[in-house]
Amino acid sequence: MIKYLKDRSYYEDLYDKGTVEWGLWHEEYFFNRAKDKKVNKLSKEMAKGLCRIYLYFYTGDRYVKREDCINKWMERDRKEDDLLENTLLPEALCFMCGEPMEFAHKHLKTDFKEDEPHVEFIFHCKECEVSSVFNNKGRDDRIPWQCPDCKRRLDIKHKRKNDVITTKEHCNFCGYHHEDKLDLSIKPEVEKSPTMAELKKFREDKLRFCLSPQEGMKYMESVANLERLNKIIGEIKEKDRKPKVKVLSIKEVQKQLKEVLKASGCENVTFSDPDTVGDVVFKFKAIDSRERGAYDARKIVKKAVITKFTGTNWALMSDGVTYRLGILEGRLKGKEYSEDIIY
Ligand SMILES: [Zn+2]
Ligand SMILES: [Zn+2]
Repeated sequence: MIKYLKDRSYYEDLYDKGTVEWGLWHEEYFFNRAKDKKVNKLSKEMAKGLCRIYLYFYTGDRYVKREDCINKWMERDRKEDDLLENTLLPEALCFMCGEPMEFAHKHLKTDFKEDEPHVEFIFHCKECEVSSVFNNKGRDDRIPWQCPDCKRRLDIKHKRKNDVITTKEHCNFCGYHHEDKLDLSIKPEVEKSPTMAELKKFREDKLRFCLSPQEGMKYMESVANLERLNKIIGEIKEKDRKPKVKVLSIKEVQKQLKEVLKASGCENVTFSDPDTVGDVVFKFKAIDSRERGAYDARKIVKKAVITKFTGTNWALMSDGVTYRLGILEGRLKGKEYSEDIIY
């Protein structure tokens, strides 16, 4: 019976072989670019530089993922062995004679459309010369002697000449004819074992592309440093994106407030003593110099004050601007500058 799970060294070799093959492929790719006559000198130098950078990250990444990938492969094969071992044999009765069929073979089947592999069983009935395949979709009966056209029994003859076996199928009823040749001299291709020179070359390449634990640790440290650096750069960029806040002193803010109130039709502007518990807060009071109603006066003054101090560390407080008998009042709040304020 086929065993899927192999020794760990098998998977390690498989992984390293993959690393070497991909490494060589990429080296070749950049090398060809550097050799290309149409490519200018600068691009050639760039190709070489890119190759070095690419291989640095590629070999490092292969090192980082190696253990995990090998464990996953082994786990997959272990599961497949379990499945093959533990799936119960189906009860197979011949669809021709009704007698139990003879178990011939079982194997694992992986349908790419389905996630999970399943076991497929093949049974024969020697008496009736038929077979049945059982899988997760049910059973599939096969009659090798049946004419595909009229479904009557074919006349089948085998003839051997040297290494070639010819099978002739003929239907005496409808005339269907089919011939198959099997050449026994053609042997399935067996993977050649590598020569000493090939093996030496592979080991040399492996030293270049498969990192040692020391080299791997060094790579991981560099990547962690790079990530830290990226984070810092990201934070700096984020800070730059924040709108700049113009910080005004109490003297400056009161001067500007007086100007904006006057420009919005107010006179006799006075300020209260600033409250310095928590944020700095002070009150302004002014007399409306224009003949306009409370609604208009409040709206115009409020809008002018908000607009004036947008982008600074000062803002009109949420109670806005009040109006009583021609007196306008409001409060401004100032924050000491810190990184977290955005207006
Ligand atoms: Zn049978
Ligand atoms: Zn036929």
